[in-house]
Amino acid sequence: HHCAFFRHHEARLGIASRAHYHALTVRHELEQTREAALRDGLTGLYNRAYLNPVLEKLVALSKRNGAPLCVAMIDLDHFKQVNDTHGHIVGDAVLTQLARLIRSSVRASDIACRYGGEEFCLILPNTAIAEARAKADALLRAWRTASFVAKDVSIDSLTFSAGVAELQQADESALALLRRADELLYRAKNEGRNRVHG
Ligand code: GH3
Ligand code: MG
Ligand code: MG
Repeated sequence: HHCAFFRHHEARLGIASRAHYHALTVRHELEQTREAALRDGLTGLYNRAYLNPVLEKLVALSKRNGAPLCVAMIDLDHFKQVNDTHGHIVGDAVLTQLARLIRSSVRASDIACRYGGEEFCLILPNTAIAEARAKADALLRAWRTASFVAKDVSIDSLTFSAGVAELQQADESALALLRRADELLYRAKNEGRNRVHG
């Protein structure tokens, strides 16, 4: 990519100096490294290291401007069973497919993140609880019906459970908001999975 990057910039900017070219290349690589550190390698979604400081900022912003803010925690149901039955490669592909569905169904201003192994977290700025729940419900319906098909594997009726919480603007911290969404997720699990609680 070294050469492609050089050729591109050489053509556009007429970079003559080799030192200048080198500096640009280093900067480009640094930016890519930085970007990669914020992304989950498997799904391409943001990772938890990115989510935490961004959520802090968005919570502060929501308190400042009075706009609602929601968080959704999503956890695949019986995912260990998918791995045990079909192997980890297929398990990885299922995670990637859910990530793709999530990415295609949230707004550009929403933040989708792989929170842990088979857990995802969405930050929905400017969104009140009713809309956030509806969004999570729609995502679950889409996930239920989009049965997974790979080369020689087909899995239907994949489900997830989710907890959705809206920021209590008076005094709730980002951490407390996440914790509340997590509690609602575990309630959804305990009540039989395959549902959204909020
Ligand atoms: P529950 O409905 O209670 O959430 O059950 P579960 O099986 O989904 O939950 P559990 O926590 O028992 O298992 C999670 C599984 O997710 C176990 C782990 O191997 C798998 N997992 C986590 N990260 C990855 C990954 O990156 N790739 C694959 N293939 N599997 C993963
Ligand atoms: Mg889990
Ligand atoms: Mg799970």
